[in-house]
Amino acid sequence: MAYAYDDQNIFAKILRGEIPNRTVMETEHSLAFEDISPRAPQHVLVIPKGPYVTYDHFAAEASDAEILDYTRTVAKVAQQMGVTPDAGAGYRMLSNAGPDGHQEVPHLHIHIFAGTYLGEMID
Ligand code: 5GP
Repeated sequence: MAYAYDDQNIFAKILRGEIPNRTVMETEHSLAFEDISPRAPQHVLVIPKGPYVTYDHFAAEASDAEILDYTRTVAKVAQQMGVTPDAGAGYRMLSNAGPDGHQEVPHLHIHIFAGTYLGEMID
């Protein structure tokens, strides 16, 4: 089944500049910004600029350049946040997909949670 992208979703509006955001990193194909309702002391969302709904959608249809940019940007954001294990810290990456995955915004995003011991928190 093909994905239908809703260009009225909140992250599409952020990408078009219609809604403000607190950007932490921007590249040719990716944008990282603070979550409006953080669930950890540090909570950043990383999105591709292209119209992809989920990770599986993105991996299937994005160009190699988009995939390389996005995967590297997620890592660079974690490094910029100062939370990578080689800096003595740690973080969690999470991407919800679809209704059973509790995805609220239908534009691919990877959450980066950090800044505390995360324990078993999975949301
Ligand atoms: P999901 O449940 O889809 O995995 O996560 C969506 C995330 O987007 C939530 O953590 C929510 O707080 C965040 N969010 C929703 N609306 C906005 C917004 O307008 N700006 C920002 N920065 N984050 C948002």
